[in-house]
Amino acid sequence: MKKYFEILICGAGMIGLTFALLMAKRKIHVCILEKNQKKTLFDQLDSRTTAISQGSHRIYKEIGFWSKIQKETQAINKIYVSEGLNSGNLRFNHNALNEGPLGYIIENRIIKSLLLKEVLDSKYITFLDNSEILEIQNLDIDNSYVETNNEIIEFKLLVAADGRFSKTRYHANIKYFFHDYKQEAFVFNISHKQKHNGIALERFFPEGPMAILPVKSNKINRSSVVWTVDSEISKKKQFKENLKKEFCKKYNEFFGELKSISETKAYPLNVFSCYDYSKKNIVLIGDACQAIHPIAGQGFNLGLRDAKCLSDIINEFKKLGLEPHNANLLRTYQSKRSLDKNLLVGATHNLNKLFSSSNKFKSLFRQVGLKIFSRSKLLKNQSMLFAMGLRNLEI
Ligand SMILES: Cc1cc2nc3c(=O)[nH]c(=O)nc-3n(C[C@H](O)[C@H](O)[C@H](O)COP(=O)(O)OP(=O)(O)OC[C@H]3O[C@@H](n4cnc5c(N)ncnc54)[C@H](O)[C@@H]3O)c2cc1C
Repeated sequence: MKKYFEILICGAGMIGLTFALLMAKRKIHVCILEKNQKKTLFDQLDSRTTAISQGSHRIYKEIGFWSKIQKETQAINKIYVSEGLNSGNLRFNHNALNEGPLGYIIENRIIKSLLLKEVLDSKYITFLDNSEILEIQNLDIDNSYVETNNEIIEFKLLVAADGRFSKTRYHANIKYFFHDYKQEAFVFNISHKQKHNGIALERFFPEGPMAILPVKSNKINRSSVVWTVDSEISKKKQFKENLKKEFCKKYNEFFGELKSISETKAYPLNVFSCYDYSKKNIVLIGDACQAIHPIAGQGFNLGLRDAKCLSDIINEFKKLGLEPHNANLLRTYQSKRSLDKNLLVGATHNLNKLFSSSNKFKSLFRQVGLKIFSRSKLLKNQSMLFAMGLRNLEI
């Protein structure tokens, strides 16, 4: 017998899981398909951390999820930005605004497993693991179905949350802008002698930017590192051999003596940005719709705002008796999300171009820019609100 779900979500990453919880909060039934097995999702070895913005924190608070993760998060109280090793040309302090911390750092493996647990406990969510879409039939949108490796499932709306290399986007033939940065992000965790006191560092070097982010620490003082390096440099055997030594120079004992450095994982960096966010009855959210450079730590937050916006609109339309694949609903989603998405895709793309260059002119421009920013309270406060996800960027 064929299964039927009005709303089918493809992908149980942080965005797909959050979207399912947002729908469940409104008592709307959904089904999530995930190609991996449940067990491997719980065991996953994602050593990255995510900076949850103040805005995303409020979304999680609204659905009652924040209380489940709060004790695992580290508040970001200050951000020090500098060109090279200069000790903080530009400093952001959450005290300048009255909005709480600038953001919160959480380890990906922790937030993913807590989201999954919440989803599995919900009576409004059906979770089908080990399930991959092989074929989508939606010529007639009122008679649409997917064929997975296990079964046929009919749906009204298919929400693609299957990440940067989304196959659903490919099936739907949705066009996108792509650019390969020819850079890799090296991610690892460190422990150090002194407390970080909730300080995040962003240091810009000619090879690329390095972020050192404060992680929840009990007895051991911990931070996590995202170091972007040009592939030309990172591919060299010599770089890999000297990575830890080179990092020590750049870290420069900011939080005191370095106690340990974990294994490193490298992520190739690129950007995908879709021109349309839906086609017929398939709609994209999160990295499936736009996957951006991690320079500003905003990809997850942008995807979370997609999930929140789509869930709000579906809820409003449902109250009017309209179906979730209504063309006006999907148009509303596109128009509400386009400004925020385009601004962030553009901003991260250009920031990376400016801050990952050894060009002397660009270096001078960066130094002058940081000085101008540091002297202007207005610029500093506005950029903090933007990064905190507290600017309403809807049209
Ligand atoms: C180095 C690095 C650091 C980052 N740091 C930050 C940060 O600090 N703050 C921030 O906001 N963002 C950050 N990001 C971005 C953030 O990690 C992503 O935006 C976010 O994880 C995207 O989540 P997602 O759920 O959309 O996609 P994914 O996490 O890619 O999840 C997709 C899910 O879909 C499943 N799937 C895929 N294909 C199929 C299929 N065919 N059928 C069924 N299931 C499928 C996958 O198994 C997976 O579970 C960073 C990114 C990188 C690379």
